Amino acid sequence: MGLIPVGISRCLLGEPVRHDGGHARWRDDGLAAHLRFVPTCPEVEAGMPTPREAVRLVRIGEQAPRMVGRQSGADWTSAVAGMAEARIAALRAAGIRGFIFKSQSPSCGMERVKVYRETGYGHKDGVGLFAAALMAAWPELPCEEEGRLLDPALRQAFAARLWVFDAWRTLREGEPTVAALMDFHSRHKLLLMTHSPADARALGRLVAETTPLEERLARYEPLLMSTLARRATRGRHVNVMEHLAGFASDTLDAADKGELAGVIGAFRRGEVPLEVPLTLLRHHLRRRKAAWALAQVYLQPFPAELGLRSAIIA
Ligand code: SF4
Repeated sequence: MGLIPVGISRCLLGEPVRHDGGHARWRDDGLAAHLRFVPTCPEVEAGMPTPREAVRLVRIGEQAPRMVGRQSGADWTSAVAGMAEARIAALRAAGIRGFIFKSQSPSCGMERVKVYRETGYGHKDGVGLFAAALMAAWPELPCEEEGRLLDPALRQAFAARLWVFDAWRTLREGEPTVAALMDFHSRHKLLLMTHSPADARALGRLVAETTPLEERLARYEPLLMSTLARRATRGRHVNVMEHLAGFASDTLDAADKGELAGVIGAFRRGEVPLEVPLTLLRHHLRRRKAAWALAQVYLQPFPAELGLRSAIIA
């Protein structure tokens, strides 16, 4: 499998582009080995030198936040907006499948960025200008911050969105057929069910329409990605695993069934990570040669060596 192209705040790669001439190297533990980074530094690309005066977001009254120099008050808002428009077009052309932002930055922060008011006080309720522009222009794109990726649940959710979006865009950028769309949906059905059964069913109805294929593809993409952005709950994982267990049940004796029900129950109670019941489930499905079930992306949405399903998710 090739590397997945992903945009990233340039300073996270260890490049000295921060305002103080330093960097903020991302301490990744495995994900990066599967990605091909397309770096961006909004401030440098907006024409700011390095090192440079630090900037911050300032909101006057009800106006949208502006980016200004901390001492000089120089206004960089238009320059960043112009840079963002050009850079987003370039990122689309580069075919990126996701973006990893530097947290807390007035340019790159995805959330809780300080916005200063006329009072002089800062409130952590803003979004960096470049991050906001990218997420507004491309809502389907999986985005995360390097700090949030330390959280096992967020890391796992981001990886799932990234690998599914890559598979989806690869399909769309090829020569998609109705059969390929149906196959894609069929293989992703149970993964989608863990995020939202109602949305998974809506996607199934969309696939089965007789509207032109291009129209179906265009409508499938935003619903696919908004479904995956919903939190997968433990209860829905249990439902999906019990459903999958049904595909192997006719080859299981009472002891096997008891063992499988036991580990699914332990997962339901938060005693073992998801990988424990899934490992047993995969084993039984392989023995049963249950083709449709074994083709489910849910069983392995991202490379196993990432170990993302080995953490207990609250
Ligand atoms: S946070 Fe963004 S704008 Fe700031 S140095 Fe890093 S890449 Fe550049």
